Amino acid sequence: MSNDDGIYSPGIAALAEVASEFGTVRVVAPDVQQSSMGHAITATRPLSYRATHIGTLTAYRVNGTPADCVALGVYHWGKVDVVLSGINLGLNLGNSIWHSGTLAAAKQAALLGVRGVALSGPAGLENFENSKPWIRRVLDILLHETTLPLVNVNFPREPRGVVWTRVSVRRYDGQIVPTKHPLGGDLFWFTVTPIEGAETGTDRWAAEQGWISLTPLRLDLTDEGQLRAVSADHPLDETLATAVSPHRSSNEAAESVHGDEATASIPVQPGHSEPSPGRE
Ligand code: MN
Repeated sequence: MSNDDGIYSPGIAALAEVASEFGTVRVVAPDVQQSSMGHAITATRPLSYRATHIGTLTAYRVNGTPADCVALGVYHWGKVDVVLSGINLGLNLGNSIWHSGTLAAAKQAALLGVRGVALSGPAGLENFENSKPWIRRVLDILLHETTLPLVNVNFPREPRGVVWTRVSVRRYDGQIVPTKHPLGGDLFWFTVTPIEGAETGTDRWAAEQGWISLTPLRLDLTDEGQLRAVSADHPLDETLATAVSPHRSSNEAAESVHGDEATASIPVQPGHSEPSPGRE
């Protein structure tokens, strides 16, 4: 388990308590607030962690991002069945999937080949007692849906039931609000503005109507329809590229790109072109 509100959030304590009914829980979470960090990773300094306690559970607080925590947790405890992230204090609906640290922790699990579930509740909720039966029901559903690699869950304040949903993507909801520095000069707040009238079947619609929303997500963001259309209407060098280049790249070819990638990378081990959980 991880989160983005920091390891001492009441949301992670409530989730850990209910999750413990289903199996062995290990908590590896950021030592401080990491909300809206998205899928940031710490690439310019090493990470470390310290043991702490959440109720009767031993937990580990990390000086890193939610994605760092999940990578570190999966490295240390190789046999991880599922990563739960949350419960976030604040819903992550629609466009929030792009900047949510809660979802990024679940996404990091999915990238490592481990199932990920992100769970978010109302902002400011401190008492999770009434939520626990709903958390239990959602975990009972999702822990048995073993083919879903990544799910985004949102709990409205007064749930009426549970529904499967899609992401509500409309226009981007970030707006800049200018203000003045007390000593002069301009300052700007980046704010999130509510979007009116979500469509039926979306995560935002479900939350607005009092339904717990379960959204299956995927890591491949390729727009299949647009790819088919644009490569038919405006073919480039695909025919030549697939004729002269091998079907699958060699390790040497992978090496040639590795050093040019944006994030810090380590050399690919022969025979291991994919990152694997628990590697040395
Ligand atoms: Mn948060």
